[in-house]
Amino acid sequence: MTAITRFAPSPTGYLHLGHAASALFCAKQAGLDGRFLLRIEDIDQTRCRPEFLSAIYEDLAWLGLRWEDPVRIQSDHFADYQNVLDRLTEMGLLYPCFCTRKDIQAEVARIGNAPHGPDGALYPGTCRHCSATERAERIEAGESYALRLDMDGAIKQAGPELVWFDRALGKQIATPQIFGDVVLARKDTPTSYHLSVTHDDHLQGVTLVTRGQDLFFASHLHRLLQELLGYDVPEYHHHGLLTGADGKRFAKRDKSKTLRSMREDGTTPPQVSELTQLT
Ligand code: GLU
Repeated sequence: MTAITRFAPSPTGYLHLGHAASALFCAKQAGLDGRFLLRIEDIDQTRCRPEFLSAIYEDLAWLGLRWEDPVRIQSDHFADYQNVLDRLTEMGLLYPCFCTRKDIQAEVARIGNAPHGPDGALYPGTCRHCSATERAERIEAGESYALRLDMDGAIKQAGPELVWFDRALGKQIATPQIFGDVVLARKDTPTSYHLSVTHDDHLQGVTLVTRGQDLFFASHLHRLLQELLGYDVPEYHHHGLLTGADGKRFAKRDKSKTLRSMREDGTTPPQVSELTQLT
């Protein structure tokens, strides 16, 4: 079976063995007749650095990977993401949230026993009930705000039973409500991982999304966004995560395990392949 797959790293550090495992897995799933895309997810401009971007190209080429040109660089497409946000606003599904992290923590503590989702406590909904006038006044006054998805409204508009097919786990029923009123854009980053990834996978015709099990829950939300926006639904394969001898996941902070440090120590690409077999 052939597929259009994509590896989508963020240039916020050097690639490590876990990335190599993901990238090699992704290219393999594309198959010989498929297409393997590389996408640079650099929407958080405060954390991305140009030297990490050039290192991504260099390290992946060293591994023997080849990808299609042009590479989609997300920071070149903020206007696209704004259009998607505008569509959701027109559908009545986004609202401005003026709460700071501290406000939210205080409200969550006040409620006690607040429901939690994959990213921690769910937003308690404080700004959902602001009047149109209050929203307009606070925006006019220059208050900073994020845009949140009205989850209940979104689920209502999307309709019943959202499903996707996961190659590792079979048919999945999406339960996006686990995220509550999730943030889809912030003032300093005028989009979000969830919005840009869902949009780009559709735009680029990706037919099989491969990524680590750590992002499994995100797919519940992405499936909802696809439905709301009339996007194609790809298949998914959430693969296992590579762990070190200590059983812990490889992370960017584990500098000894970057691909470049391994290369300097004389490790070869076939040895990396050998170390990074995933299912
Ligand atoms: N950019 C994400 C990361 O570096 C991966 C996104 C995805 O594969 O959906 O973890």
